[in-house]
Amino acid sequence: MNFDLTEEQRSFQHEARRLARTELAPKAARWDTEAEVPWENIRLLAEHGYMGLILPEEYGGAGANLLDLVIVLEELAWGCVNTSLFVFSANAQGNRIVQLGTPEHKERYVPRIARGELHASHAMSEPGAGSDARRLRTKAERDGDHYVVNGNKCWISRGSVAGLFITNVTFTDENKKGLLLIERDTPGVEIGKIEPLMGHRGSPSTELLFRDCRVPVEQRMSEGDLNASLFSMSFSRCCNAAMGIGAAQRAFDEAVEYIKTREAYSKKLSDLQGLRWMVADMKVRLDAARLLIYRAAASAASGFPSESQAAVAKTFANEAALQVISDAMQLMGANGYSREYPLERIYRDVRGFAIAGGTTQIQRNLIARAVLGKRDHSGN
Ligand SMILES: Cc1cc2nc3c(=O)[nH]c(=O)nc-3n(C[C@H](O)[C@H](O)[C@H](O)COP(=O)(O)OP(=O)(O)OC[C@H]3O[C@@H](n4cnc5c(N)ncnc54)[C@H](O)[C@@H]3O)c2cc1C
Repeated sequence: MNFDLTEEQRSFQHEARRLARTELAPKAARWDTEAEVPWENIRLLAEHGYMGLILPEEYGGAGANLLDLVIVLEELAWGCVNTSLFVFSANAQGNRIVQLGTPEHKERYVPRIARGELHASHAMSEPGAGSDARRLRTKAERDGDHYVVNGNKCWISRGSVAGLFITNVTFTDENKKGLLLIERDTPGVEIGKIEPLMGHRGSPSTELLFRDCRVPVEQRMSEGDLNASLFSMSFSRCCNAAMGIGAAQRAFDEAVEYIKTREAYSKKLSDLQGLRWMVADMKVRLDAARLLIYRAAASAASGFPSESQAAVAKTFANEAALQVISDAMQLMGANGYSREYPLERIYRDVRGFAIAGGTTQIQRNLIARAVLGKRDHSGN
């Protein structure tokens, strides 16, 4: 087993780190405070090829793999979570279309996603169904060569700027759940209210409503049944975990620099044994999370990573990241809690990662199922 990054991966990491420090970090507070989409960063990163990093070269991507992507996302999130979310989304939704779509879907959408011209969102959650996908109610009724879609979605990340929705529906004539690609300008698509989330404020989440929305039958994703759709989330979970750890690393770095200069009781804070052990525990959490994320990402030989490895990585990394950020705030005292430092913003952004993409409880269900098999009474 080799734990070293390749030369190419080190170069991806180095370049993403440089952009995160010089371009993203200095403006990160603005997108949060103003609830503004970081368009100038998105354009810059698109020019550098980040939007299509893992997408196939034949569709305009760079042909990298999921391990390369998580390394890059970690660095970008160090500088600005809101910006990293757009890079994550382009690669994750582009990959979903590559893995589950028809050749026509790939040709029509993936090159535009790779160029950063088209933003796609995954529209699954509904007011009555989040964790439990069996309760999803959005319907697609066959009418000749169209489906007529009706239903309400919520919490759809980047919904207000997306041009395409990869939408979980029930095909009523077959009583089967699956995925339909719905373009934003299709009559009957309505963007509802912007969800007032505590974080991810530069990456707006919205309600999304379908009212007798007629979608050509060719827009059905050929490989996208419910199981494939749920399995495809393992990819996003590795990215989610990596962005959380990248942001937690930023909080850690801030706190370490702070305690090296701040004094109390005639000593540098960094000379107090109790605080030194806190720093050591934070470092252990970051390193362990990173290794679990890399292991899960490296398992993605055929497009999606191992479901249970991604669940292990997400569970540990989400909780480790929140603990590290909370400890970093504690190390910095009132300054850690002040808006003049980035820690409170980082905490708000990272808190959402433990809910988005499947909660840590749902990840534990997946892990337990991999260890113990399905439960008899629920099939879950
Ligand atoms: C920042 C953010 C971005 C998001 N982006 C998107 C998006 O782009 N697209 C999209 O479709 N959705 C998105 N979501 C929604 C997200 O996927 C759901 O919030 C999530 O799946 C949980 O669903 P819920 O909120 O309905 O909670 P519920 O499913 O109602 O769960 C409530 C609580 O019960 C627990 N729980 C539920 N079932 C079980 C069980 N079987 N065993 C143990 N505990 C259980 C949950 O873990 C949670 O703690 C986003 C959410 C957030 C916060």
